[in-house]
Amino acid sequence: MTPQPIPVNTPLLDGNELKYLTECIQTGWISSEGPFINAFETKFSSYIGCNYGIAVSNGSAALDIAIKALNIGAGDEVIMPAFTIISPAQSVVTAGATPVLVDSDPQTWNMDIDQLEAKITPRTKAIVVVHIYGLPVDMDPVLALAKNYNLKVIEDAAEMHGQTYKGKMCGSLGDISIFSFYPNKHITTGEGGMLLTNDQELAERCKKLRNLCFEPNGPRFIHYELGWNYRMTNLQAALGLAQLERIEEFIKIKRKMGTLYQEKLAFLTDKGYQLPLADVGYAQNIYWIFGLVAPDQHTKEEMVKYLAVQQIGTRPFFWAMHEQPVFKNMGFFKDEQYPVAEKLARNGFYIPSGLGLKEEEILTVTHLIKDFVY
Ligand SMILES: *Cc1c(COP(=O)(O)O)cnc(C)c1O
Repeated sequence: MTPQPIPVNTPLLDGNELKYLTECIQTGWISSEGPFINAFETKFSSYIGCNYGIAVSNGSAALDIAIKALNIGAGDEVIMPAFTIISPAQSVVTAGATPVLVDSDPQTWNMDIDQLEAKITPRTKAIVVVHIYGLPVDMDPVLALAKNYNLKVIEDAAEMHGQTYKGKMCGSLGDISIFSFYPNKHITTGEGGMLLTNDQELAERCKKLRNLCFEPNGPRFIHYELGWNYRMTNLQAALGLAQLERIEEFIKIKRKMGTLYQEKLAFLTDKGYQLPLADVGYAQNIYWIFGLVAPDQHTKEEMVKYLAVQQIGTRPFFWAMHEQPVFKNMGFFKDEQYPVAEKLARNGFYIPSGLGLKEEEILTVTHLIKDFVY
């Protein structure tokens, strides 16, 4: 019997997705005009607890808009983790500003808050907080620093739909936050993203930037500023609305998956592997993905190869920003070192973690990992 492949992600699309999409086709509303956009923005922003939601084409686009809406540009510095997806760094660099990196906490894999204050200079404009893999950043000290130094806080909550920090929703804690609805996120629109804020003026600016900076009340086709076409379509919003109806169920599935992996893979700690923390006091892991950090790079590569032969999907961890060829070639981060981020990037990977993952598939994965290790 040939075993079935187990992909790293499978979304769940068996709620009202087809019904709402059919409605789009039948009514002809398929562009960014259409009733699902407003409904999705309203429902998602109120779920997270923010006054305004601005739906966009993806999470990276949302970051571009957030940076520009806050008037961050040439001469400004923006603090962010070294260990992250490239999106926040790319937005800052393309805006003409400079990313300033902070190393990771070896336990939570999030930005090490104790190293943050030393990175603040008179040029610092904002902090991009990236909540990584399932645990939120410890926000209270970040918000206190931001207040003291008069800095904006951008929350990259692209992996945190429904996760809380001390009982408050991630994505409701900073000046502005962004979410992604890529198919491996907790809810998906295929491609998609959203900005959330309580600041009406900022929300208006985001809306304008998403739509080529057309003047909302001015004459059509007269522009005073450059933006993007980063609009979400009614089709995407239809998917999003159907997904949002099930978000609490999805979070339960993720936590159940994480708990089962924790139990079945506990033996790995004796072999020098690191598992995600289940609980950090201010939050319980939501397990966006289930990550493992191998004792060294070689062991990781061997395990990933072994799993690939067994048709088990894995993904490497993020590659740190200061080691990105594109940024090095631009002259950023010269001689900078972030040892924890470097180690996570080299030794870390994640195993199948999608919402569609079945319990017997989890057991297959954990058995194979055990076979490899012993
Ligand atoms: C997925 C993700 C993004 C980017 O979202 P896209 O919709 O893929 O552009 C940004 N930040 C983080 C932390 C992410 O995980």
